[in-house]
Amino acid sequence: MTLPNMHDAEPIPAAAQAEIERLLQSGDLFRYTASENAPVTLLEQEFAEALGVKYALAVSSCSAALFLSLKALDLPRDARVLIPGFTFAAVPSAVIHADCVPVLCEVGENYRIDLADFEHQLSDNIAAVIVSHMRGHTSDMDAIMALCDARDIPVVEDAAHSLGTTWKGRNIGTIGRVGCFSFQSYKLINAGEGGILITDDADLVARAVIMSGAYEHNWKKHGHLTNAFARWQNKLPLYNLRLSNLSAAIIRPQIAEIPRRVADGRRNHDRLAAALNATPWLKVPEPLIGEVRAPDSIQFNLCNLPDAECEAFVHEASRLGVKVQLFGLSRDNARAFWNWQFLPEHRELPKTRAMLMRACDVRLPARLSEAEVDAVAQVIVMAAENCFTQPRAFGT
Ligand SMILES: *Cc1c(COP(=O)(O)O)cnc(C)c1O
Repeated sequence: MTLPNMHDAEPIPAAAQAEIERLLQSGDLFRYTASENAPVTLLEQEFAEALGVKYALAVSSCSAALFLSLKALDLPRDARVLIPGFTFAAVPSAVIHADCVPVLCEVGENYRIDLADFEHQLSDNIAAVIVSHMRGHTSDMDAIMALCDARDIPVVEDAAHSLGTTWKGRNIGTIGRVGCFSFQSYKLINAGEGGILITDDADLVARAVIMSGAYEHNWKKHGHLTNAFARWQNKLPLYNLRLSNLSAAIIRPQIAEIPRRVADGRRNHDRLAAALNATPWLKVPEPLIGEVRAPDSIQFNLCNLPDAECEAFVHEASRLGVKVQLFGLSRDNARAFWNWQFLPEHRELPKTRAMLMRACDVRLPARLSEAEVDAVAQVIVMAAENCFTQPRAFGT
């Protein structure tokens, strides 16, 4: 069995091509040119319906959606925003972009927010929380919402990598005040770039719509929120983070693919996880009870092994044909908090650091067949056997 290419994307559904051809013929690429039913508007309606929320606003990236969410919450300058210490550098960056201060909390070895540290940090004058469901791992949303609701702290869900994940039957991204998703190529829906925010809060979405670049009366193309829009007319800056009709044409036909991609991704993930968990060295943390995952990658921890052997394992897997990234050992990794030197405040996170030094990351596209997943499993297990079975030489 030859190894699959783990970075190739799926083809974009053929329906996108006819729509793109139509757009190229008409030249109608700007979302606000058509009087109604522009592709971006239809995308917003379809996405809101698919997730079961009232409002959606499509923008240029998930980072833009996170930035606009914080702006739309109307936080004062230098407001403190609590985020997990394990996330992508774009998340603290969006906080800084919104003139706020990122405050990090600990993440456990199961990649989920450490609730004791989260609760402790909440008392540090926190004005808002971004729960980043990193790599699609859901933290305990019941506990997080209870802690935040009790203090009247709004929660933004960074669901960039969680499209299709559910928590006790609810869609991730619909539990906090706002949910943000990405259409960047490595996410479940691939448009190269793009993002969307969803909410049931009319006033919040009106503010976000205007700031995303709905200048003058373009907000009229966002449905019947006249009162909310009238309240904010001319009162907010325009950041122009809009999405193009071309991107919407690429995204829309992929919405129907979500259930298949989720089911196949979970099948592949669970198959590979079973093979890795059968070894004494590799451990895939269990999902939380109530969480149904939609993975397009797998994370596992190396158990009780010294740094040098972990590094050898990464090299051996690569030599055998599978790229394994060990978060904390790869240089300048954008998901290692100690590389976020742009933060105004730094805090050491011993638990998160320990996890990052042993957590491995492997892409696992939903399009892989079970036989291809087995070939990947064989390589990872063989790399572990080659590196970890040598008897250790002690004291010599
Ligand atoms: C990809 C990703 C982002 C950033 O998304 P963009 O659309 O590239 O801005 C943010 N958070 C997480 C967890 C991500 O995986």
